[in-house]
Amino acid sequence: MDKLERIKSYSQTLGLYSLKSTIEQHIQSANEKEVAYQEFLLNVFESEIVQRERKRNESRLKSACFPLIKRIEEFDFQFQRSISQKQVNRLLELDWIDKAFNLIFLGPPGVGKSHLAIALGYKAVESGYKVSFTTMDNLIYMLKTQEISRKSKTRMNNILSSSLVIIDEVGYLPINREEANLFFKLVSALHEQASLIITSNKGFEGWTELMGDAALATAVLDRLSHKCELFNMSGKSYRLEFRKSILNE
Ligand code: ADP
Ligand code: MG
Repeated sequence: MDKLERIKSYSQTLGLYSLKSTIEQHIQSANEKEVAYQEFLLNVFESEIVQRERKRNESRLKSACFPLIKRIEEFDFQFQRSISQKQVNRLLELDWIDKAFNLIFLGPPGVGKSHLAIALGYKAVESGYKVSFTTMDNLIYMLKTQEISRKSKTRMNNILSSSLVIIDEVGYLPINREEANLFFKLVSALHEQASLIITSNKGFEGWTELMGDAALATAVLDRLSHKCELFNMSGKSYRLEFRKSILNE
């Protein structure tokens, strides 16, 4: 084996996977620029670390399961007045995740609840946190099928090991008592271990009806609101205001 092949093989053994494919480039560039030994090693290590971080980011983003990516830069604070840019900037510092605080966005359809939830989740992924996004419907499905479906079990394990769990669209469809019980158990398991972002079109007063059980609804809300920031969002639907029409394009 020539020396280059041996370097590649050692890179593999040492787990320097990106170096394995970039070593030729590094050597060529060092030869051309007459780079000193220290500088050369530094470049090699730095590029390995950058690549590694990029891969980790990609894999965290994939496992977060966002339905689509929304960024905070795309959010129009002139249109949505019930939350200020200053408040959101504060949330973007993400220290509430370290403190296991929950965020609850309440309000009618189209006011930007999911947009903000995803944008904060995306920032959290970029900052190195493990994040899981799910809709309430899907969550209930996974909770009910985790004993018989490996896919559901894997996703549930993913959720349970996340620092931030986003549960979107709580309250669009009512849940039965068994489902409400499963939801309560999950919220209890995550309580003080992880942060939750909940979006809902129902105010807290509607949660008893949603869960069909006053005691359960109270117990869930008790845990969710123990350490939480609540945002009551109002205003017009962004979707309706900026309705796109194929015929008028
Ligand atoms: P909700 O979850 O409250 O029903 P969404 O967050 O899904 O609403 O918003 C509906 C659509 O409108 C999305 O495409 C979202 O990106 C966009 N949107 C909502 N509010 C704003 C806003 N203030 N600025 C920019 N886009 C917005
Ligand atoms: Mg939504």
